[in-house]
Amino acid sequence: MNAKITRITAGKFDLSLKEPFKISLGTITKAKNVLVKIFSDDIVGIGEGSPTYKITGDNQQGVLSFIEDITPLLINQELDIQKIDEVLSSFINMTAAKAAISIAIYDLVGKELSKPLFRLLGGYRDEIKTDLTIGILPPEKVREKAIDAISRGFEILKIKVEGNVEKDFKRIEAISDLGIKIRIDANQGFTPKDVIKFIRKISNFEIELIEQPVPFWDISGLKFVKENSDIPVFADESIHLARDALRLLKEGCVDGINIKLMKCGGICEAVKIINIAEAAGIPCMIGCMLESKVSLTAAAHLALAFRNIRYVDLDSHLFLSEDPVLGGIEIKSGKITLPEEPGLGISAVKDVGETKEKN
Ligand SMILES: [Mg+2]
Repeated sequence: MNAKITRITAGKFDLSLKEPFKISLGTITKAKNVLVKIFSDDIVGIGEGSPTYKITGDNQQGVLSFIEDITPLLINQELDIQKIDEVLSSFINMTAAKAAISIAIYDLVGKELSKPLFRLLGGYRDEIKTDLTIGILPPEKVREKAIDAISRGFEILKIKVEGNVEKDFKRIEAISDLGIKIRIDANQGFTPKDVIKFIRKISNFEIELIEQPVPFWDISGLKFVKENSDIPVFADESIHLARDALRLLKEGCVDGINIKLMKCGGICEAVKIINIAEAAGIPCMIGCMLESKVSLTAAAHLALAFRNIRYVDLDSHLFLSEDPVLGGIEIKSGKITLPEEPGLGISAVKDVGETKEKN
């Protein structure tokens, strides 16, 4: 492609939540994200990074510094995805920053080619169901939120649990009669033996899958759970990059993988994971951090493009007190669709923080 990168800007993109969101790793009230704009001569691509120390090991300031440092390596580069990915991959970690750049580049490429990204990447489907996530709350609150979600058309819920067999059992029991698909996410909260107790206790309920039951580093624990569980076991925090996926699949540790752009560092790496998993006969989920519709829309393009993404958890914009993004991902009655617009299909972003010009 002849178009070249002429300018990159990055700025703080703070997003407040309607109410605190609690998972077993902690409680969040505000997402401190980064909005990136990458310009060619006459087009701009946008991307978003959503860092969090506990999962990606970086923060907003780190993402801004990384983008500032890497900008000279990208200016004047042509929009060749593999060459840009080679530059990004030569740096360790910083996956939220890399994801922001990757999303903006793909948005630019889609706009240059006048095609929606999901059509360029694979075009497998036009819509897909997403779950709605319910944070760690008392059982009666979980039930209240579940009933509200059902009234809004959601058919799948992801229930966050804390790693306490009795308390978590009550959370699941409270919604077990609602006729809804239930996914459970422990965010590393259990020991391997405790999660087996928990899985046995909920064996009478219809549970679709359990995600990241044990600490991210406990690969043998994850394998133990998978081998002793009737419920499919998905890895989230244990798998960031394609090489993590390869290792865990080789060792037979999981029944599925939750891919997040913020963990893997962008669309190229996500595609590698999708394909490695498909070759191993393992399905993928695509999920999110606390993100606006900018990066959620990029993830939604992957979900519609690839047949091996069979589970979707892209709902975080619904938790924001204000949605600063126009266009992009739409959720109606629990189903995701995307506009037939070039690139991401985002028409405008109301910048929440200052944007520092580079070059
Ligand atoms: Mg998870």
